[in-house]
Amino acid sequence: MMKELIEKAKNTHSLDKNEIISLLSCNDYDEEIFTAADCIREKYVGNEVYLRALIEFSNACLKDCKYCGLRCSNNNIKRYNLDENEILNCVENAVEFGYKTIVLQSGENNAYSVSKLCKLIQKIKEFDVALTLSIGEKSIEEYKSYKAAGADRFLLRIETSDENLYKQMHPKSDYKNRINCLKNLKTLGYEIGTGCLVGLPNQSIESLADDILFFKEIESDMVGIGPFISHPQTPLSCTPNGDLVLAVKVMALTRLLLPNINIPATTAMETLAKNGQLFALQSGANVVMINFTTDDFKNDYNIYPNKSSANPLSIAENLESINRLVKMSRGNSLSWEKKNK
Ligand code: SAM
Ligand code: SF4
Repeated sequence: MMKELIEKAKNTHSLDKNEIISLLSCNDYDEEIFTAADCIREKYVGNEVYLRALIEFSNACLKDCKYCGLRCSNNNIKRYNLDENEILNCVENAVEFGYKTIVLQSGENNAYSVSKLCKLIQKIKEFDVALTLSIGEKSIEEYKSYKAAGADRFLLRIETSDENLYKQMHPKSDYKNRINCLKNLKTLGYEIGTGCLVGLPNQSIESLADDILFFKEIESDMVGIGPFISHPQTPLSCTPNGDLVLAVKVMALTRLLLPNINIPATTAMETLAKNGQLFALQSGANVVMINFTTDDFKNDYNIYPNKSSANPLSIAENLESINRLVKMSRGNSLSWEKKNK
């Protein structure tokens, strides 16, 4: 039965909710699921691993997500906002290493006016790179301005597609607005990325199955799955960390159902276990983000404790050890290219 479901996913890239639940609930065929996802990854997006340069340019946040160390209620954190020159120095450093995609990430804040951020985007685009923003929920007008200034992609995880759980985890956010933001970004022509956390309190296998179906329904071009990691200065300090194998399994099933997309081996996976990212790369992932935030601020972007940081110098060696090649191209997702050709 399970083997048939895995074959079905491999051949049709389609499973219904009950079928996904069956695969997520049974642990006896995990190896087969990982191998199938690895095979589909190779068939559709090849053996190259796209590297992205991540710049965490501000840890100020107006939101209060219960799991995140950057939440506004956490007073035990040194807040920072990098200025334009500091950000451009990080970009220059990444470009010198050969990076062709820059990811600008921050807490959700108003520390940078729209015009200031547009000016920064224009300056970054002078380096001839693809630019991804991950700055949270904004109005459609704001997203439009950033697109016009040159931003190409946007990452906005739904975190959980279970509206009730979403409400419990996000006292200052509205589920419907998050979905609207994703739809607006899509309408504006961004390559969109979403994703979820695995291991939130009260999160059911059913809701993880819905998450995977949500990624398909919204036609996401990139999907990032992060195991939840408990942060001591949050209301979830006593909640155990998410399970790495379950998180990788959600990711592998996502690859089987969305064969054309880009899927990162997330930092949270490596933080939970050494070589967690290599495990993910052999189970459907094809992207790695390398942190180019200046050392002085890296530790203050404390979403969760002991955040791992892949080394730009040793990454190629690590990838070669699993017969994968570094690809220093922009690495658009195939799903987006197909829709926009
Ligand atoms: N503020 C923006 C947002 O929320 O979309 C972008 C920055 S936010 C720090 C990036 C991601 O960090 C979130 O989408 C969330 O999934 C992840 N994150 C936050 N706290 C986490 C935790 N305790 N464990 C694992 N991932 C976490
Ligand atoms: Fe802010 Fe993003 Fe953390 Fe939520 S997940 S508290 S929006 S930085």
